Amino acid sequence: MTPLSKLSIARPADPFVACLIPMYNEQDNIVSLLTRLTAEFETHGYRHRFYIVDDGSRDGSVEKVQSCLDQFPITLIQLSRNFGKETALTAGLDYVDGDVVVMIDADLQHPPEMVPVFLDYWRQGYDMVYGARRCRGVESPLKKLCTRAFYALVNWGSPMKMPENTQDFRVLDRCVVDALREMKERNRFMKGLYNWVGFNQKMVEIDVNERAAGETKFNFRSLLNLGLTGLTAFSNAPLRLSVYVGFGVAMASITYAVCMVLGKLFGVISTPPGWPTLVVAISFLGGVQLIAIGILGEYIGRIYEEVKQRPSYFTKKIDRSPHQTNVNTTEPTTNKCSNCSGS
Ligand code: UDP
Ligand code: MG
Repeated sequence: MTPLSKLSIARPADPFVACLIPMYNEQDNIVSLLTRLTAEFETHGYRHRFYIVDDGSRDGSVEKVQSCLDQFPITLIQLSRNFGKETALTAGLDYVDGDVVVMIDADLQHPPEMVPVFLDYWRQGYDMVYGARRCRGVESPLKKLCTRAFYALVNWGSPMKMPENTQDFRVLDRCVVDALREMKERNRFMKGLYNWVGFNQKMVEIDVNERAAGETKFNFRSLLNLGLTGLTAFSNAPLRLSVYVGFGVAMASITYAVCMVLGKLFGVISTPPGWPTLVVAISFLGGVQLIAIGILGEYIGRIYEEVKQRPSYFTKKIDRSPHQTNVNTTEPTTNKCSNCSGS
């Protein structure tokens, strides 16, 4: 962690805050989130605009946001379908403008009253301030174990350790947003990317609330997929591990063979039937080989995704509330459908 005394970056006196919210089926949460965030921004005198990325919601979320375009300063970016949270955040980062960006989930799990605290750290000179869950709360032992295993594997032998329990509740300085925009990879694992770009980072412990309404969009399978994306994007540890396991198995087989030969020569081992040994050896080696091939396949699949060079997302429509924000509202010129329109 960078000591505060070393941070001497000047911040604008009257910063413009862009608040980025990924939204997927959050009709019962989004308006109360906007209301609570607005109260925080107004109390602390921050000029602000909400950038809400609708990630293909199928409930009334879009209509809810459209109905309060006059009430709050909003830019609503509708993606052409559900691309997943990582891509929704990427799309939002392409659109946001301002001196500093606040990222927050739409489900009120991240306490809005912590936003001014994060912004204070940013004013002190930190480029990235992020929330880390104080305790993981009630989670299944399997999920806890998988999370532990993921971080142990991804950090194994890596010079840059990825911190555990971090959230997508963040404040990012303009320079961090620009750095993240430079990273064009399609298999995006945002927590890894935030870590990779560096800059002066500050972790703040937060209490993560229960979801206000609705259900999590991440079931065990989607978390597993996200974990695999993170692992393959930021670590060669699985490849290395498969080499070690293969080596270990090969050494064990050689040792076993030598023991058998010596045992036979000295008459210690009577002739075994052999069948169980063969079956165990063959199936074990077969299993190890399949695992190794599977790991290779994962990496090759990721390479294939990258070389196809497809855009990460498409934007269907953009709605803007009439509020003036006094910032340059340039937008990415790519990834838009021909009927994409602003209002
Ligand atoms: N989200 C999204 N696209 C998705 C899934 C989730 O934009 O495909 C948004 C969701 O609306 C919320 C945030 O990402 O604002 C976190 O989602 P969720 O609460 O389901 O995840 P969890 O908190 O359980 O990790
Ligand atoms: Mg949530």
